[in-house]
Amino acid sequence: MDRTPPSVARPLAHRLLELGALTVFLAYTAGFLGRITLAVDTMAGGFALSAGLIFGYLLADLISGVAHWLGDRFGRESTPFLGPNFIAPFREHHEDPQAMVQHGFVELVGNTAVFASPVIVTAYYLLDIQAQSSWTLFHAGTVTSVMIGVVATNVIHRWAHMEEPSYLARLLQKTGLILNRERHARHHAGSFDRAYCITSGWMDGALDALRVWSRAERMLGRRPSD
Ligand SMILES: [Zn+2]
Ligand SMILES: [Zn+2]
Repeated sequence: MDRTPPSVARPLAHRLLELGALTVFLAYTAGFLGRITLAVDTMAGGFALSAGLIFGYLLADLISGVAHWLGDRFGRESTPFLGPNFIAPFREHHEDPQAMVQHGFVELVGNTAVFASPVIVTAYYLLDIQAQSSWTLFHAGTVTSVMIGVVATNVIHRWAHMEEPSYLARLLQKTGLILNRERHARHHAGSFDRAYCITSGWMDGALDALRVWSRAERMLGRRPSD
């Protein structure tokens, strides 16, 4: 595995891109949530929306695991674009788990907002919520919670490394709704080859028990030096 640089420089243009993407993401997510909530006026609609929100949150945890696994196990920090922006932060985190505690909010969520904002904007304009279809509400719930989960992942991960996170963070950790310190410690305790999911960690049990990551690495022909 590549060694990690002491710090990852982020150009001004990239920081502005992150800030713009985050602003768009927050505005459209709030608008979309409002539209979804107002569209529910039957029990079936409420059930479909709730099922979509839960499914999307599970999906977000799985996506966090796949992204984390790829960042940990594949590529190099010198890989164009992906290296400094996505691979290096994961490698840096293994060397110095406390470094991310110092990172600002935009630095933590900006990269994911760049990818999530076009998705939520597309859903806002293309999903016909007024059609009152249960499937539409299910899809709307899924898109909303998967995007919120994905964007919030780095903040949740940061909370799992903080000695004294906020009251809200501790409450969410205690209820098990988000990744907590103990659950995430499994990743840092060994060879960084398990417990990759860092949104809720709900998917880790099944993925690790089935050895999904090591099987996928064998299928993809990953060599120890990659
Ligand atoms: Zn960590
Ligand atoms: Zn890792």
